[in-house]
Parts: sequence; C-alpha cells; structure tokens
Amino acid sequence: MTTQDELVPKSTGLKKGDTGADVERLQNYLSQFGYLESPVLDEFGVDHAMAQEEPEHGTFDDRTEEALRTFQEHYDLPVTGKLNKATRDLMTKPRCGFPDTAEPVSAEFVAQGNKWSTTTLRYGFVEFTPDLSQAQVRAAVSTAFGYWAAVTPLTFGEIPNASNPEIRIRFAAGNHGDGSPFDGPGGVLAHAYYPPPNGGDIAGDTHFDEAETWTVSLPATGIDLYTVAAHEFGHALGLAHSTVSGALMYPYYGGPHRFLHQDDIDGIQSIYGAQQWMTKTLARVYTTPHSKNAWAYPTGVGWRKVAPTSTDGVTNTFAALVQARASDKPATMLVTGTEITSVYF
Ligand code: ZN
Ligand code: CA
Ligand code: ZN
Repeated sequence: MTTQDELVPKSTGLKKGDTGADVERLQNYLSQFGYLESPVLDEFGVDHAMAQEEPEHGTFDDRTEEALRTFQEHYDLPVTGKLNKATRDLMTKPRCGFPDTAEPVSAEFVAQGNKWSTTTLRYGFVEFTPDLSQAQVRAAVSTAFGYWAAVTPLTFGEIPNASNPEIRIRFAAGNHGDGSPFDGPGGVLAHAYYPPPNGGDIAGDTHFDEAETWTVSLPATGIDLYTVAAHEFGHALGLAHSTVSGALMYPYYGGPHRFLHQDDIDGIQSIYGAQQWMTKTLARVYTTPHSKNAWAYPTGVGWRKVAPTSTDGVTNTFAALVQARASDKPATMLVTGTEITSVYF
C-alpha cells in the first residue's frame, strides 16, 4: 500500500531536474489525487481532463512540473511549478481519497453526471469502528444523510447489509479489496464511489480509514465522523470536489463542518432538483411585524423562509404554519430551494 510516508514529499524546494525518492513521493501524491495519469481515475469514475501523462518516475520532468502547476492553480496557491512551502503544507493535510477533477466554467461545485434513478435510497453497515458505539455511528450517518435530504427529494433509510442496500458503509484499514488501499493514520481519511453506472456493485459505497481515530464529540478529539460522512455521501450521490474552501465538498479536512455550504446545496440540487414535499412537525415559527417576512423550522431540517411569492401569500401561509405548530401536528410543505412555497395543514 502507498503509505503517507510514500505519498508526501519530506522536503520543500523540489524543482525541475531534481531526482530521487522525494520526487517520487511528489509524483505519487499527484497521481493519487488526479493530476497525473493513474488507474485511480477510472476506479472512481473521474474524467482525465486534469491529468498529465505519466512522468518518468523519480525525475522531476516537464509532466511533473505541469501537474504541480495544475495542483497549485486548483488550490489558488502561487503557481511556481516548484514545491514551495505553501504547496507542501497543503499536501500534509488530511483529506478525502477521492481524486480532484477539473472545474466547470460556470460553477465551483462539480456534478459529475451519474445519479441514482430512485429518490428512496437505502444504506447498510458492513463493518463498524471500535472507536465508537454502533449507536454513535448510526446517529452520525443518519444526520449526515439528513443534510442532503433536507435540500433534495432524497430520503435515506437503514436496512441490513444482507438486503442489498444501494450504499454500503465500511470501516477498513490498509488494503481492503477495492484497489484503493488506505494509508494508515493521517493522509487519506475516507473515500466513496459515484452512483451507477460506475463501478457496478461498489457504486455508492463509502469506506472510512480505520487507522484514523474517529470521534463524534465536540470539540473534536479526532476526526469528526459527521463531517467526513457527510462529505463522502456527497460523492455517493454524484458530486465531485469543490474548490470553495468553505464548502463541505472541499477535499481537505479542516475540523468539524456539520452543514452544507450554498455551493454544496447548488451542486446537489443541480442533480436531483430543488423542489420537494416534506411533511414535518414544526419546532419553531417566527415572523416580523405584519407577516412581512416569516420562517418555520421543520423538525430536523432547519429554518426555511416563507417565499414572498408563496401561493397563499406570506400572511396566510404563516397562519397555517402557526396552527400546525400550536397543535403539534405535521404540516405538509412544498419547499423550493430553501423557501416554503406552499403549505397544507
Ligand atoms: Zn471527497
Ligand atoms: Ca489515513
Ligand atoms: Zn475502499
């Protein structure tokens, strides 16, 4: 397996013409994450647009330099083609094992093209982690799916692994049989596979590196499972990496990030659509004077604004929401994007 030791160059300052083991580490890193040709791209169903032809191993050649420039450009680093400190510092950060892809012209998020043909998705656990109780893992996974469910028509439910769930969840260390071995503590934290048709049975599957210390507590004393699970499920639903550093789909882990950025919402809605019906009780409702603006908080979803163009007007819509809240009965809402456009109670 490619360990962290073989993946991250140990020194800064590498440049064209240099040779040796450290150049090879740099090339391994650039191959692993999509900047040089390697089988990794096909394994994860990622296009080859960003990848340079294979370089001469152990020699900092033109291809290596071009790949490093692409990496620097992708992450808004000074584009020097040399391994400067800022570039190496980023490479030492833990991240997702899914390779990076070229950005489309019009957006930062990348919707790769594959999607599930059903909106009712099922997940199952193949292996748990000894770091946490099964109940803790289940809570983190269900919450992480909930972020995506809150802004799309998708629903997620657990079924036994024997009943063929679309999304299989595993904690595994090192080589675990899918051609993408994990690398020990640090480095790659997890990876996931796109929806069909890529990969056959492995489509949608999500693997976490058991060599990491997984946690669910805040402040985090290890790697936050909520954050990494939510990121990986983005891939399992058809999103690639975003270059927006505040997005959940940004590849590098920077501590707990338990929410979707607008970029993530735009990305997932570009695949599955923005309009959805939800039937929920309301945890809270709120309005400004004369129902000028109104909001409701469907349980487990978060604040949703009543659309100014709401079918029945903001005042009537808010009245229905208040009635639902007061009687603690579920309201059926049509939500477009993040706005409530219609309510039935
Ligand atoms: Zn990722
Ligand atoms: Ca790792
Ligand atoms: Zn795997």
